[in-house]
Amino acid sequence: MLDNIRIVLVNTSHTGNIGSTARAMKTMGLSDLYLVDPVSAPDGKSSALAAGAGDVLANATIVSDLSEAVKDCSLIVGTSARSRTLPWPMLTPRECGVKMVQEGQKGPVALVFGRENNGLSNEELQLCHFHVCIPANPEYSSLNLAAAVQTLCYEIRMGYLNLDSYPDMESDYPLSEDLERFYVHLENTLTETGFIVKNHPGVVMTKLRRLVNRARPESQELNILRGILSAIDKKNKQ
Ligand code: SAH
Repeated sequence: MLDNIRIVLVNTSHTGNIGSTARAMKTMGLSDLYLVDPVSAPDGKSSALAAGAGDVLANATIVSDLSEAVKDCSLIVGTSARSRTLPWPMLTPRECGVKMVQEGQKGPVALVFGRENNGLSNEELQLCHFHVCIPANPEYSSLNLAAAVQTLCYEIRMGYLNLDSYPDMESDYPLSEDLERFYVHLENTLTETGFIVKNHPGVVMTKLRRLVNRARPESQELNILRGILSAIDKKNKQ
């Protein structure tokens, strides 16, 4: 099940941080590392800092954007050191650890980390179901990237060691790629009806994403919503 928990680093600048991340992961029993558009590919510095976790580093998957890295995941949690303009459903690090191991029993889930200099973009954060913030010193709350990975992987490990005490998860959630297809469909239909004005889309899609996200539709519920959109599309065409 820990194999289903993916650590994703977005656009990392320092190759040393990639190595330290591999080490942080392996010490906590995790092995699935994705690198989204790293500024430089892993190098000797990465290997040196990975130490005994060279296997995690060697097996890392490199992709060009975040949606590609998480398309087969049904739960995506983004990390952020600061609150954003549009608040998103939040998890504490402990809740995050429990959720990742619970949902990781069904299939891949992802924990996403941002750039050393400016974290994750709003668009990347909006791909996530939840955000998690390590409640650090408010006067200086930005941890080193690999230190943040270590802290949250430790919580995942604690969740894993206590797994027996949590109820089994019954729900079946859609994969990220299916949810993203739904958002494209929703936007197209709303544009077609004139509710969204093409050149002035505003923040309506972001707010709808947050609404759907908060409701966390199960696979069957998402199929119903898509069915509704298709029915509207059909009427529009008549
Ligand atoms: N200056 C950036 C911070 C980047 S730190 C900003 O303001 O967003 C690099 C990454 O480490 C962050 O994107 C996040 O993934 C992780 N990180 C650092 N501190 C964190 C914290 N307190 N809580 C959660 N993640 C944190």
